Amino acid sequence: MKKVAILGSTGSIGTQSLDVVRHHEDLQVVALSAGRNAALLEQQAREFHPDLVAIWDEEAAADLRVKLADLNITVVSGMEGMIQVAVHEAADIVVTAIVGMIGIRPTLEAIRAGKDIALANKETLVTAGHLVMPLAREKGVQILPVDSEHCAIFQCLQGAAHRDIHKLLITASGGPFRGKKTEDLAKVTVQQALAHPNWAMGAKITIDSATMVNKGLEVMEARWLFDVDLDDIQVVIQPKSIIHSMVEYKDGAVLAQLAPPDMRMAIQYALKYPEHCDMELPHLDFTQLREILFEVPDNDTFRGLPMAIQAGKTGGSMPVVFNAANEWANAAFLRGEIGFLDIYDRIQDCMSRHSVIENPDLDTILATEQEVYSYLSSSGS
Ligand code: NDP
Repeated sequence: MKKVAILGSTGSIGTQSLDVVRHHEDLQVVALSAGRNAALLEQQAREFHPDLVAIWDEEAAADLRVKLADLNITVVSGMEGMIQVAVHEAADIVVTAIVGMIGIRPTLEAIRAGKDIALANKETLVTAGHLVMPLAREKGVQILPVDSEHCAIFQCLQGAAHRDIHKLLITASGGPFRGKKTEDLAKVTVQQALAHPNWAMGAKITIDSATMVNKGLEVMEARWLFDVDLDDIQVVIQPKSIIHSMVEYKDGAVLAQLAPPDMRMAIQYALKYPEHCDMELPHLDFTQLREILFEVPDNDTFRGLPMAIQAGKTGGSMPVVFNAANEWANAAFLRGEIGFLDIYDRIQDCMSRHSVIENPDLDTILATEQEVYSYLSSSGS
């Protein structure tokens, strides 16, 4: 029996992780955490009977304690509650399905406690990869990628020697605005940006896909996960999301992983690694698939990708600034306070005025995040 804790169980990855658990009798949920969705968390607690659940707000936790009084479930709150879920004694693996840099502390604590990590929360690796990866090595824990691109690369690397990698090829759908130019993007609405052509995901990552910031975050994530140079990672547009990513080896051989777009495949691979088990997921039909199209990313229009690579190459605290500014601007766009193109301008502004701090520790990372938030909030919408 593999025991699973899920941070962010009420979100898109969290609910799909629970769906994977439903299909496997040898997976058992022992702890869950949510942000605000107490009703769904209660429902999940009743179905999966974890020992522990955490919800962000203490008032909501008090309410949930009353509602779950008929079950033997401990209800906790806040960052400390999330950390309790992450380090739960019985858990073998922690799914980090929370969104944003708030995932850094619970992820580090889970690793410190020796838990394997099924990592969806890419913002943690982007901003604290230099802390996460050495700690994981020291503690002997596995970081199993859940992001479909990284899961694909991970699969293409099975049995291969690291020294034989020539480059990683990360595929991107191009999002809902593929083919548009800057003047077209000036007036796009939140609703249009949320209409991803291939994937149903949480709001933040869907906007990140529209700006191509998501692809930039993924390039930085891949660099930490697979220990490759940023110059050895290439982004390729593949609009239908059939090829999830590829590895090119030194002899010129390219290995790709293909499947219909469904995140449960990647989540299952992380939870059941190294098995490829049946979960009644849709399969590709090669009698229907006629072609796979490739394009080069339009980095002049979708500035999220080149800015991310610039932040990654600068290193130190710059990826924190890139990510924090994006988290702020993404949320402001979703609230209707700034336009789509303002997201790029806010990130660029924060990066231009930042003095890089080398090798930032956790406190410096969190302080840098706060500085970016204070600056953007005070400079207004
Ligand atoms: P969602 O917005 O759907 O879910 C986020 C989860 O985090 C929810 O459970 C939410 O709780 C919880 N949460 C949010 N803020 C807080 C907070 N302050 N304190 C505690 N919990 C909080 O996001 P996704 O599932 O789409 O994405 C999760 C992560 O996975 C992201 O890093 C994303 O980039 C990555 N990812 C997602 C993919 C996808 O297909 N969705 C694909 C690849 C990667 P609540 O809802 O209760 O408020």
